[in-house]
Amino acid sequence: MLHTTTTQCLICGSPIIGRRDKRFCTDSCRSIYHQEHKKLDPPAIKFINSKLKKNRQILVSLNPEGKRTLPRESLSRAGFDFNYCTHRFVSRKGIQYNFCYDQGYALFDDHMVLLVRQEIQVH
Ligand SMILES: [Zn+2]
Repeated sequence: MLHTTTTQCLICGSPIIGRRDKRFCTDSCRSIYHQEHKKLDPPAIKFINSKLKKNRQILVSLNPEGKRTLPRESLSRAGFDFNYCTHRFVSRKGIQYNFCYDQGYALFDDHMVLLVRQEIQVH
């Protein structure tokens, strides 16, 4: 018995020709699917993502040159939330930098904060 497997596009239901593991007929159906999928992110993820993006935006706006020292209060006043960051980096001198994506900061005892930018190499 001959098996012919016809797969249907997950979005529009069109038959898919080609590789068996394909799930969409076209790139536009694929992008619709991913858009829809994004909407299904749990609220906690949306909430944290928006915090991180806002934090990053504040750092970008306060640090156009890529390196700057300013009072910690400037960040708080702009609405920066110190509870949210993506990763940490400790320098050889033992200074801890917290990052929101590529934008980072180090807190100092005298209520100053050093803003830095991380050059991210994407391969
Ligand atoms: Zn389709």
